[in-house]
Amino acid sequence: MPISREGSDFDVILVSAEYWDDHPLCPVGVIARVLESKGFSVGIIEKPEHDEDFTKLGSPKLFFGVTSGSIDSMLNNYTPLKRPRKDDPHADWNPMPDRAVVAYCNALRRLFKGCKIAIGGIEASLRRFAHYDYWDNNVRRSILLDSRADVLVYGNGEKQVAEVASRLKKGDGLAGIPGTCVISKELPDGFTRMPSFAEVRDDKLKFCEMQMYFSNSRALAQAYDRNFVLQHPAPEYAPADLDEIYALPFSRGMHPKSQLKMAQFSVVTHRGCIGECSFCSLTLHQGNRIISRSEDSIIREIEALVNHPDFKGHVDDLGGPSANMYGMDCTNACGDACLACATLDRSHSRLVGLMRRARAVPRVKKVFVRSGVRFDLAMESREYVRELSKHHVSGMLKIAPEHVSKRVLALMNKDGSRFSEFCDLFNSMNKDTGQTLRYYFMVGHPGDDMQEVRMLAERAERLGNAEQFQLFTPTPMTLSTCMYWTGLDPRTGKAVKVTYDYATKKKMKTAITHTFE
Ligand code: SF4
Repeated sequence: MPISREGSDFDVILVSAEYWDDHPLCPVGVIARVLESKGFSVGIIEKPEHDEDFTKLGSPKLFFGVTSGSIDSMLNNYTPLKRPRKDDPHADWNPMPDRAVVAYCNALRRLFKGCKIAIGGIEASLRRFAHYDYWDNNVRRSILLDSRADVLVYGNGEKQVAEVASRLKKGDGLAGIPGTCVISKELPDGFTRMPSFAEVRDDKLKFCEMQMYFSNSRALAQAYDRNFVLQHPAPEYAPADLDEIYALPFSRGMHPKSQLKMAQFSVVTHRGCIGECSFCSLTLHQGNRIISRSEDSIIREIEALVNHPDFKGHVDDLGGPSANMYGMDCTNACGDACLACATLDRSHSRLVGLMRRARAVPRVKKVFVRSGVRFDLAMESREYVRELSKHHVSGMLKIAPEHVSKRVLALMNKDGSRFSEFCDLFNSMNKDTGQTLRYYFMVGHPGDDMQEVRMLAERAERLGNAEQFQLFTPTPMTLSTCMYWTGLDPRTGKAVKVTYDYATKKKMKTAITHTFE
C-alpha cells in the first residue's frame, strides 16, 4: 500500500485542499509518486473538514505535507472584487478553507502534538516572505510563521520533499535544504539581508526594495523580531530530473470531482517561463529558465497513453506554462532576462520536431496544444505557426495579448509589438480552414484607467472573438502586486496610477464586456 487514502502507519501523510488525482498535473499526485519511488509509504487526506478527517490515517512516521494544491485558497475562494465564489451558483468552484495551509497546519498542531510539518504548493511558495495580501488589504508576514510549519518547500518541490523525508528518516535536522525556507535564530554567512518585516509593513519604499531582491536563485533572509526567515536557493532541475519524474507510473486515475478531467491525457513538455510577465507568479514558483524534457521521454509517455483504457486517441495538451518555449533552455546562469538575449534559440526547431513525432505515434488521432502560445516568440518561426494551426488547434487558438496600451503593456512586462503581425499571419494561414484566434485581455492592472480601457474596448471590438476579460487580481509576491500596493514601479521607482475603488474596477469590466453584448 505505497500510496493510499486509507490505512495507517505511513511514512508521510499529504494533506491537500484539492482532490488527489494520480496524474502528473496534480501537485499532490506528483509528490506522492516521487516519495513512493524513493521507498516511502504515503497516505493522502483530501479536503479535510472535521477532526476525524485529519486523524483517520493516524500519525505519520516522518511528517505531514500540507498544501492548498495548484492554487492559492484565497484566489480560489473569491472573485477579483472579493465576492465569495460560493455565492455564485454558476461558478465551477472547488471549495477549500480560506488560507487553507494555515488552517490545516493549525488543526494538525492541535491534534498531533509535536508532529513535523512541511508546507508547499503555490500558496506556501508565494507567501514565503512578507507579502501584500489583497484580501486583508495589508502586508502579512511569512506563512512559515502563521502556519508554524517546520519547513517551507517553494517552487518545484520534488527534490526538496525527498530530502526532507530522507533527513527525518535518519533523524537529521532540516536546515540548509536547497529550495526551502526555514526559521532561524541566526543569520548565517552568505545570506542577503532584505528589509525586515516591520520595515516593509510600514514603508512602501522598503517594500519595493524587498520586491527587487526576490529570486529563486538567491540565499535571502528577512528579520522578524528575534528570528529570520531564510530562503535557501532553489536546487537545479535538469532535463533528466523531469524525465525521471514524468516517467513515474501515474495511473491517470481521476477523482470523480477532479478539476483536471479535461486534462486527463495532457503531456507536460517543460517547466519554467522566460516571459516574466509582471502579474504572473510563475517566475517565483517554477523559475525564469526553461527546463525541457527530452523528446524521447515525451514520446514514451504518449506511447504509454494510447494503452490507457479511457484514451480515445486525443492528447489533450502538449505544452507547459507557455506552449512554445519548449527547447528554449539555457544553462548559462548569467542572470539576464532570456527573452532579451540574442543567443536564445527562437527557431522552435526542437518543438516542431517533437510535434511531428507526437502525432506520428500509432493510435494517436490528434495532439492538441491548449497551453498558451507566446505570439511574439512564435513570430520567429512561420514553420511553427503553420504546423500549429494545421495540426494542433481545434477550431480556435487562444492567445493572451492582455492589453493594447503601450503604457500598460510596459508595466506588465509584455511585448505587444508583434500582435497585429501574428494575427495577420495566423489569419492568412487559416483563410480556408475557418479556424480563428481568441484573445485574453486584462483590465485594472496598475497603469490602466478608463481611457485605456476604452482604447482596449475599441480594438477588441474590431478584433471580435474576445474570449475573456479578466480583472486584475493582485496575487502575493508578484511585481504587479507590488505596484498595486505601493503605487510605484519597483524597477524604476516611478509613480504608477492604480485603480483601487471597486466601483471603478467594476465600470472597467462592464465597459469592456458590454462591447460584446
Ligand atoms: S508568458 Fe504566461 S506563464 Fe509566462 S510569465 Fe507570462 S503569463 Fe506567466
